[in-house]
Amino acid sequence: MTKQIYDFSEGNMKMRNLLGGKGANLSEMTNMGLPVPHGFTVTTEACHEYQQTHQLSKHLLNDIDQAIQTLSQQTNKEFNGTSHPLLISVRSGAAISMPGMMDTILNIGLNDQTVVTIAELTHNERFAYDSYRRLLAMFGNVVYGISEASFDQVLTDTKNAHHYESDLDLTVADLKQIVSHFKNIYEISDKGVFPQDPKEQLLAAINAVFDSWNNHRAQIYRRENHISEELGTAVNIQEMVFGNYGENSGTGVAFTRNPSTGEAGLFGEYLLNAQGEDVVAGIRTPQPVATLKASMPDTYEQLLDIANKLETHYREMQDLEFTIEDGRLYLLQTRSGKRTPSAAVKIAVDLVGEGLIDQKTALLRLEPESISKMLHPEFDLHDLKQHNLLTTGLPASPGAASGQVYFTAEDAKRASDAGQKVVLMRSDTSPEDIEGMIVSQAIVTSRGGMTSHAAVVARGMAATGVVGAHELEVDYERKIAKVKGQIIREGDWVSVDGTSGNLYSGMVKTRDATIKGELSAFLNWAKQNSKMGVYTNADTPKDFQKALDFDADGIGLTRTEHMFFKPERLLQMRRLILAEDLQGRKDPLAKLLRMQQGDFYELYKLAGDKEVTIRLLDPPLHEFLPHDEKEIQAVSKQTGISPELLRDRINSLKESNPMLGHRGDRLAVTFPDIYEMQVQAIMNAVIRLAGEGITVQPHIMIPLTDSQAEMAWVRDLVTKQIKQSSNEKSIKVQYTVGTMMEMPRACMTADAIAESSDFFSFGTNDLTQLTFGYSRDDVGSFMPKYIEYGILPADPFQTIDVEGVGELMKIAIEKGRKTKNDLPIGVCGEVGGDPKSIEFFEEIGITYVSCSPYRVPVARLAAAQAHIRHLARQKAVKQPVQPELVSFFVD
Ligand code: PEP
Ligand code: MG
Repeated sequence: MTKQIYDFSEGNMKMRNLLGGKGANLSEMTNMGLPVPHGFTVTTEACHEYQQTHQLSKHLLNDIDQAIQTLSQQTNKEFNGTSHPLLISVRSGAAISMPGMMDTILNIGLNDQTVVTIAELTHNERFAYDSYRRLLAMFGNVVYGISEASFDQVLTDTKNAHHYESDLDLTVADLKQIVSHFKNIYEISDKGVFPQDPKEQLLAAINAVFDSWNNHRAQIYRRENHISEELGTAVNIQEMVFGNYGENSGTGVAFTRNPSTGEAGLFGEYLLNAQGEDVVAGIRTPQPVATLKASMPDTYEQLLDIANKLETHYREMQDLEFTIEDGRLYLLQTRSGKRTPSAAVKIAVDLVGEGLIDQKTALLRLEPESISKMLHPEFDLHDLKQHNLLTTGLPASPGAASGQVYFTAEDAKRASDAGQKVVLMRSDTSPEDIEGMIVSQAIVTSRGGMTSHAAVVARGMAATGVVGAHELEVDYERKIAKVKGQIIREGDWVSVDGTSGNLYSGMVKTRDATIKGELSAFLNWAKQNSKMGVYTNADTPKDFQKALDFDADGIGLTRTEHMFFKPERLLQMRRLILAEDLQGRKDPLAKLLRMQQGDFYELYKLAGDKEVTIRLLDPPLHEFLPHDEKEIQAVSKQTGISPELLRDRINSLKESNPMLGHRGDRLAVTFPDIYEMQVQAIMNAVIRLAGEGITVQPHIMIPLTDSQAEMAWVRDLVTKQIKQSSNEKSIKVQYTVGTMMEMPRACMTADAIAESSDFFSFGTNDLTQLTFGYSRDDVGSFMPKYIEYGILPADPFQTIDVEGVGELMKIAIEKGRKTKNDLPIGVCGEVGGDPKSIEFFEEIGITYVSCSPYRVPVARLAAAQAHIRHLARQKAVKQPVQPELVSFFVD
């Protein structure tokens, strides 16, 4: 029989898969000698067994009995005891933290007898009945599924009847009455009675925690955060300590650094005379932890000291849960704290500065995708002046976002499904709201603090968040919110600034963020620690400038056809395509030449000494022609060509399968003058820059090549044009001519094609299309089902299909480098900016990736991580390495 229960003294932080994060860390803290209440963990393996059989095994039941006996000895208390009753908490804890998604029950062990004993023992009747009413509500909700609202309603009614402001005003008599009301709720609900036997309570609670692994919100959270369904949760059973013992007691959460900004220093909140769930649930607005310094200076110092110890021990920012019982401090949890992406960068950089971690570890601490979330826009200050500041709350999660207001998660989800941008506005949020929160641009609450559920979830999702905006009064029934005499109705636009905590009316314009400060240092480390280059796909100086701001190494792909879509150019392109003979093509070609050379000049000029790769025309010509009658009439007017002739020409260019038709370098074979014009435009730009003292080495890329003979033919055309242009100006130009690898046949014959190519660049969009036989423009109709049913692990247009397309890439690389062993090989399809794909590209020896400007920093970090892990794996063959270096360290 495997061991399914571990006392806190038996575990450690490395056992998170078995003990869950919470259990492993409770053990670690116990062994560090920190004040952790006694307890034990039921393992995730027991959870796996339970998921199969839906019951606790005999063996486990025996072990639980024994563990409770040990706990009794450790605490000098007795479960269901008559003199010193032991009260316990039952809390979930998976290997990867899923805050608030699974269940917890506190104060187990209380019943009609023990509540009296505890009241007598503590001389604190109020505390005893306050704990009992909490147990009744939590147990009813978690075990029997009775709605939380029905218990809350009793509390609210009692408070209203006596005009109380807070739960703290409830008297012993009130609490006794509430307890009896709560028992009635059980009866009315018909779901079961509240078991008076503590053991029965405990077993039902363990079952409920195991069951909560599969509740709806936990499933959604796992899907959203790519957490495996297989992990299961552990259960932690621990002696209760009481934050609701009186005014000298309290409970709180603290981060060792600010989770929103990353600033060093203890940051958190607590509530006096409260139990844990009050803080996260946002029921009362807690006080900043710094105020403890004045009210309980010794406890504050102790907390600070423990926080520092834990951060140094874990070498990572920690999120602590603590309880103060009658002046004594206890730690109930530590874990790696969730933080905003910008806080994550600052913390990683600071921890390196403090010597706690090295650069490589810092680089592995951040998910590459989160970088793109850091580049969130900010409100345009000029436009902001035109908008009315409604109110200010706590800046829970930075960013700037606008959307239409909805007051329930369901309404927000529905509106988002219908294509609206939504802001979820609530008095507070609970884990049930997760679906609505996921789809919201921003989350606003009127209650709660920086560690309330809304704040934690918003930060975790990098959604903009403002909480505790207490001037807002949300009226769910009428679907409105009032603020300073103004009314916000469902569907109204608001703008939320999560950095300042401000809420504005209407839609405020945003502007792009830039890379500065710690992020810039961090990305520099990424560059130094990676082998692959990161280029951008850019067709305009604006895009290129953005990518340069993000420190792109240059341009890996300019799709020149995009330059032809501006109205004046489109007209010339149409004249070119519609011309009847060579003579008729001359004038539009000359005009296009002038425009293209200007485009290339701008790009080269911006590039400085960085490289620019220009791809010659790729799409089928009919893409440039009018598609409907109205357009035909307009083009006829512009060009002077009769509508009949136009229709004829359009028809003659129509293809049944244009993506496999007359496009790419096939155009060069049939209309060589277009490629000649483009090469001449490149050369004119190069020559003009040479006149300005700037040397450019043009890199020219040929799309859609599928054979050596074809590549040789096109290369010949290109080089002749280059030679002609340079001879005319008596200038020597170094250049390269490479090909895109986007045809399976090209991959299979890459050794021959390499003879005529100076570089390869994988066009994985087309290569994937042709390998799968999926039309890249039509996959939307079936791909979602393929992914939902697990037929495909991911959309292969977004994450490389290692088994098929990846295999072709490997073949092409091997063959290409057999011909030229230092052949540069890039990837410029969509997957070039995808972290998972980049990991694979590192392994197969890709020289560089090229992606859209906003993906550049993401790809840079992914490239660094891929290289660090690659080196670690190589080293691991010889000696064991830090596990952190080979697998993602998330929590
Ligand atoms: C590709 O096919 O991957 C590619 C980069 O070219 P395009 O998307 O322009 O066809
Ligand atoms: Mg392509």
